[in-house]
Amino acid sequence: MKDLYEILGVSKTASDAEIKKAYRRLAQKHHPDMNKSDKTAEAKFKEVNQAYEILSDKQKRGQYDQFGSTSFNGGGGGPSGFQGFQGFDFGSFSGGAGGFSDIFETFFGGDMGRRSRKSRKSGVRGDDIEFELNLTFEEAVFGIERTLEVAKADVCQTCEGKGYEANTKIVTCSNCNGAGQIRSVRQTILGQISTSHICSNCNGEGRVPEKKCHECHGTMRTRQKSKITVKIPSGIDDGSIVKLSGRGEAGVGGGPYGDLYLHIRVMAHNKFSREGTTIRSVEEIDLLQAVLGDQIKMATVYGEIDLKIPAGTQNGQIFTLKGYGVKPQNSTTAGEHLVKISIRIPKKLSNKERELYEQLALEKGLKTSGHGGIFGKIF
Ligand code: ZN
Repeated sequence: MKDLYEILGVSKTASDAEIKKAYRRLAQKHHPDMNKSDKTAEAKFKEVNQAYEILSDKQKRGQYDQFGSTSFNGGGGGPSGFQGFQGFDFGSFSGGAGGFSDIFETFFGGDMGRRSRKSRKSGVRGDDIEFELNLTFEEAVFGIERTLEVAKADVCQTCEGKGYEANTKIVTCSNCNGAGQIRSVRQTILGQISTSHICSNCNGEGRVPEKKCHECHGTMRTRQKSKITVKIPSGIDDGSIVKLSGRGEAGVGGGPYGDLYLHIRVMAHNKFSREGTTIRSVEEIDLLQAVLGDQIKMATVYGEIDLKIPAGTQNGQIFTLKGYGVKPQNSTTAGEHLVKISIRIPKKLSNKERELYEQLALEKGLKTSGHGGIFGKIF
């Protein structure tokens, strides 16, 4: 194992800036793109990167200074000490490979470096999903837990989102020679323009697993039906949108999940209507119940209750039942249930009923115009 300071050609007391400067110079010198014919360049390039990875990290450098190389390879020792490419996973690699973007800042300007870093670290965010959820009137009032079956792109279960077969070897990407970037030079009237893009084969990692996952072919995602349990809060309104963060499609290239949006549709009820926390209904009562008063059974969302009809109740009169409306989540009190009274006027009377009504009319001194009326027809 070579001494890491030696690899970078700096002293053991070198400052961070000196280490970075040395690293940039050597990485540029040994970069595989610049040394296409030189097979040893790639190995040197790797060596420089690995040395920098440790010496640029305060904690790792301290450990190295104290214990030497063996502290980093889990007791294995030997020349493979810092190679460490067997069995790494993409997640941790992205974090440790900050050195790569530094190189591209040097070569192509900061913009390219930033872009490559961003793309490798975050991938592409998964799509959002829109879903319509129909609820009955009562489900909306009281809330409900629903399990939805949503077909969406999700993390491949075969490889658990790694994109490669278990125990496969991680090899240098043959497309970019491990650089993570493909560089091309064009001749234009303004001169030679060098452009670079992220290698599509390794997604900028520079290394690829030898065998891609047979299920997702390395895309890390497959289309699958997912069961998603959602808790719809009580008092939700028709037209509301419930956002479930991170429950959309899985990201591309390890990117974050999209969101799931539930569009709430509340079905109409044959008895009740609703406005926020207020529930409304209409109760039909008989004329005599209105006049003399009574007690009736009526439906509320909480079950049947007795409603007292006071004598002299008017048509269209509204009774307020406090606490029988909607109780929204995080609220301690329920709204009101407003009952509108509709008085049924009899359309047909039996002879006996007619007699009684006419007596009543007489009592009131009314001239009734019905047939058989006491005063007969006036007009
Ligand atoms: Zn897979």
